[in-house]
Amino acid sequence: MELTVHLACGYLHGQTDLGEQRCHCQPRLKWQRGDIAELRQLCPSCLSAPAGGPSRWSVLVCRRCWLENRAKYHLPLARHSIANAILLEANAGSAEVAKFQEAILGMFDIQRRLGEWRRVHLERLLAHAGFEAVAEMPEYLVHLLARLHLPPPEEAVLALAAWLREGGPIAADW
Ligand SMILES: [Zn+2]
Ligand SMILES: [Zn+2]
Repeated sequence: MELTVHLACGYLHGQTDLGEQRCHCQPRLKWQRGDIAELRQLCPSCLSAPAGGPSRWSVLVCRRCWLENRAKYHLPLARHSIANAILLEANAGSAEVAKFQEAILGMFDIQRRLGEWRRVHLERLLAHAGFEAVAEMPEYLVHLLARLHLPPPEEAVLALAAWLREGGPIAADW
């Protein structure tokens, strides 16, 4: 099912079997099925494959970026804290609770920054490929341009992980 990338926000929109998927500029809709009102999103790391999904257990990067992250970087890139192994024991003391809260807030911050990374890299990718003036682009075309012009997932997630850990502005090269 073909979706369209809205380049201002970097999210997909269009009709899906589960309902209308809206990008993040549009008012949210409630779906009849699934936890999240999206069929998928663009992998913010490599832009060349789908990520996310309607389940709370979905992962916010593509499968290759997730496997690479799991093996090397251990960033909380799954949507749910449990899937990121951020857990609190029933008899936890105040130090564990504080650590847990810090990990949850860190997870939300990282997940927010994924959107920033995706927007900047989308903009650069399209400028590089000669599509500066467009506002929308079919998802398959973004995947294709990313495979042609961007590093493969293993390298893309390395750059993303470094930025998520170090913060600051996104470096000009990729
Ligand atoms: Zn949008
Ligand atoms: Zn990816």
